[in-house]
Amino acid sequence: MPRLTIAIDGPAGSGKSSLAKRVAQILGYLYLDSGAMYRALALKALREKVALDNSLALEDLARGTHIELKPPTPEQEAAGSKNRVFLDTEEVTQAIRTAEVAQAASRLATTAGVREVLVAEQQRAGAGGGVVMEGRDIGTVVFPRAELKIFLEASPEVRAGRRWKEHQEKGEVMTPAQVLDEVRERDRRDRERKVSPLVRASDAVLVDNTAMDVEETARLVVMLAREREKELSTAAGREL
Ligand code: C5P
Repeated sequence: MPRLTIAIDGPAGSGKSSLAKRVAQILGYLYLDSGAMYRALALKALREKVALDNSLALEDLARGTHIELKPPTPEQEAAGSKNRVFLDTEEVTQAIRTAEVAQAASRLATTAGVREVLVAEQQRAGAGGGVVMEGRDIGTVVFPRAELKIFLEASPEVRAGRRWKEHQEKGEVMTPAQVLDEVRERDRRDRERKVSPLVRASDAVLVDNTAMDVEETARLVVMLAREREKELSTAAGREL
């Protein structure tokens, strides 16, 4: 069977990570979280006090930074980690999961030069197929020819509720209203930015998981993936 490239895009808290991770696990594919790269660079910008509106300095920072995603260890997996994230040589898997870093990531993600560097890195990491990559522009910019594209949605309240739970579990004190504001602000910036805004690719399947759990959503996406695999292998057979 051919090994697909699966793009999962959607706003903050839409459940992309849990879905992408589960689908990759069922299909035996590689899971890649592109947002972790923006977060890792944002962490470095915050530490080095690079202004988040200084495009040239941010692009320079991106060009001089090495960010790598690796599969989690079994312990990290059990604790709900996504990818292991390395910033230059330091592991920052946990350090990038704060509201402050998320906000900074969405600000530097509006810089075209930063996106150029990170997109090239994402394309390298996912080359060869057999990959589920999640983000905001995977189906539109990173892998516009992905064989399966999903645009994941959920109501803002449900999305904020999921993020609030994550913050609670990590001991970050935020009220549900603060989390809703944080999610809304990031969504607005992601949807309104000039470069690679968050939009549904015209050939992406829209999935609203407001009332679906991860397993139900994953089952649906795996079914779509199996159909695409079959279509592609039938088409390849016809060409022989
Ligand atoms: O997915 P996550 O919430 O970790 O992403 C953090 C921020 O990185 C997003 O709010 C968005 O601004 C940016 N991002 C992006 N393009 C991607 C992935 C993330 O602009 N492909």
